[in-house]
Amino acid sequence: MGTPTDAVNEAHGLLLSALADTDVRLLRNDALLEFTAAAEAAGRAVDALRIQAAAEVAFHSRPELGEDRLSAKKGCRNAVELLSRISLASERTLTQRMRLGEATRPRLALSGETMPARFDRIADALGTGSIGYDSAAAIIDTLDPIRGRVGDLNVAHAETALVAAATGPTVESPVPFAADEIRGQARVWETVLDEDGTVPAEERAMLARGISAGVTRDGVVHRKMTLLPEIDAKFETLLNAYLNPRSKPSFNDPDPDAPKDPRASAQARHDVFASLIDGAARSASAPTIGGAAPTVLVSVRQADLDAGTGVGFVEGCEAPISMRAVEQFVCAGGQQHVVIGPDGTINCIGSNDRVFNATQRRAITLRDGGCIIPGCSIPAAWSEIHHVKAYRDGGETETCNGVLLCWFHHRTIETNGWQILMIDGVPHVKPPPWLRNGRSDADTPWRRSTKSRTQQADLLQQEQQTAPLPTLA
Ligand SMILES: [Zn+2]
Repeated sequence: MGTPTDAVNEAHGLLLSALADTDVRLLRNDALLEFTAAAEAAGRAVDALRIQAAAEVAFHSRPELGEDRLSAKKGCRNAVELLSRISLASERTLTQRMRLGEATRPRLALSGETMPARFDRIADALGTGSIGYDSAAAIIDTLDPIRGRVGDLNVAHAETALVAAATGPTVESPVPFAADEIRGQARVWETVLDEDGTVPAEERAMLARGISAGVTRDGVVHRKMTLLPEIDAKFETLLNAYLNPRSKPSFNDPDPDAPKDPRASAQARHDVFASLIDGAARSASAPTIGGAAPTVLVSVRQADLDAGTGVGFVEGCEAPISMRAVEQFVCAGGQQHVVIGPDGTINCIGSNDRVFNATQRRAITLRDGGCIIPGCSIPAAWSEIHHVKAYRDGGETETCNGVLLCWFHHRTIETNGWQILMIDGVPHVKPPPWLRNGRSDADTPWRRSTKSRTQQADLLQQEQQTAPLPTLA
């Protein structure tokens, strides 16, 4: 008799030959559906094997084993890392398999004896290939969190009913229920067993709060935020403070028919959030990492940066970022030239001197007072410093070449139509065509722009002094 691996290998070989021999496109009607059901049944058996294997690897890698952990012996931080090296599956999938596996694996009592699994009916159904991964997860994910409050007996009762519904004909249905229906039924059990009042709503909310890890899809990172109401209220208030209608661009009595802020409100909220994060990361009280302020590392190939094409990569983020985003990082955060040889060694490290220092930032803040685009209300602390003349065009990292821009206006400065010109070291702006009242570029004057109250007071005083005195007729 061969090893368990031999048995699985043999089945694998059979599946591979079925895969090679089958042309699914030739199947029609009932034959196609029979084939689909057979493939699913094989998949359920494979899923059960994967769940058992993950649970076993996790069990032998449990933290209390210290250096004897299987994961440690193989040079991995934990079971997930070890499993991902072997299976090449995603962390999310492996974590889910381990959770299911842990809930359906016989437990080890403190006395050393073996006890049934927390969900031993699901374990049986998985073991016979009669329940799928999705239905098992739906039951475990719903019932496990309430076990402490409703007791093992109640959970076992619900588990039995749900497994029956998922695997075979029941009183309610002549056919097994699908995973989504099982999840719905599990929720009903949850509300019946864990009636309101068992746990105060506030305590539930405290348990439910969280911000999920990001998942990259289509070039954006999706994160789920489950906020406590008071935190959400603060967040909303903060966003709204910088999204109010007063903060929309206005310049030279704009044409009322002109397009409004082109960003949808969700995008505008994103951009306020981006500025808020910038401000928090820069704050003097932000924690340091290894002595330095939290720094986001972006790497880009010199040739791509010079050509303005290609993409860059942010350390710790799987999605590549656009060259415009890289340029914004370079403009606001400086850059460091690192030459890495073909063999991977670091040949040369340049100094990072293209970033405005704290003294310069304070001076620019006093002069500009916030994002210098008229109508934008993002404050100085949340703004980035933009090199008006790009470093690669010979622009210097000096106060006379740096202005405050919020994240959005910085990101879009080359496309949003606003022009910036430093005249004797003072930022001046010219609005985009749709805010020029029909005037041509040449007829539109450069306007000094500052959000600083003291600077604005100065400007008003100057205007008063130079304006002709009203004369009585
Ligand atoms: Zn702005």
